[in-house]
Amino acid sequence: GTLPAPDLVEEFVEEAHQRNQSLEGGSVADYIPALADADPNLFGVSVVDVSGDAHDAGDTDHAFSIQSISKAFVYALVCEELGHDATYERVGVNNTGMPFNSVVAIELNDGHPMNPMVNAGALTTTSLAPGTGDEQWRWIWKGLSAFAGRHLVLDDDVYRSERAGNQRNQAIARLLESYGRIEKDPLEVVDVYTKQCSLLVTARDLAVMGATLADGGVNPITKERVVAPHVCRDTLAVLAANGLYERSGEWLFEVGIPGKSGVSGGIVTVAPGKAGIGVFSPPLDDAGNSVRGKQATAFLSRALGLNVFASD
Ligand code: GLN
Repeated sequence: GTLPAPDLVEEFVEEAHQRNQSLEGGSVADYIPALADADPNLFGVSVVDVSGDAHDAGDTDHAFSIQSISKAFVYALVCEELGHDATYERVGVNNTGMPFNSVVAIELNDGHPMNPMVNAGALTTTSLAPGTGDEQWRWIWKGLSAFAGRHLVLDDDVYRSERAGNQRNQAIARLLESYGRIEKDPLEVVDVYTKQCSLLVTARDLAVMGATLADGGVNPITKERVVAPHVCRDTLAVLAANGLYERSGEWLFEVGIPGKSGVSGGIVTVAPGKAGIGVFSPPLDDAGNSVRGKQATAFLSRALGLNVFASD
């Protein structure tokens, strides 16, 4: 199938925004102090299709730190570098059923990080970027910018704020080191990971990044090939299983296409072969997923006929 006509898409994007603008519930993340200041009323919805057509409603130009959504794109970049089998062996694909920063999930699985969309697997994935420290950071920065089709900028306040309080991620990295799962300097890995989470994006950027995965790895705006089609397939399968942490089953049931959330309130969603959706609204459910973002995306999936399990 294909997307409905552009004017219909435009209408549905407006409606997804309108319907959910006054939706209450959820709370803004505050375990990273710099995130606690976010305006809970900000709300943006953006759709970019694989031909590069964009449709926006609300605060789609507001910049926020990408946080865990970076995990999806760093995974794709590392997958491109290491290939299907090696990436699978190192980080796995199965859901933990536990919160994104769980230490227990590592302990219960023989020191294996389980999947790249929770912190343990994401730290492992970041450790697999070529080089060490600054080299790795530059490689990730360049790769995420290629997905967005523009030079992304680091939010220094968010970076410093998270760095000052990320003892838990340091503990996770040390634990993985003890199991031989991280072979580089674990604290340097945490630092690169904290930087990748602090890159500023907009809802529109997320839609472009998602559209690149939907388009088999070619950015539909810049036409640059960022990753290979098989990398997109692997990444989207991993997102379907794990993109919304322990709520991934619920998400797949309601939305029917792969997505990835982050604690600043963004969600990227990918309709393979069709489009990317980027949403932003800071209040989160108790798993760390944007409340309005989930509803707006579920609406768009139904309205635009995006559910990959639908045969009608
Ligand atoms: N940087 C955050 C962390 O590691 C990202 C978490 C998230 O978005 N779920 O805790």
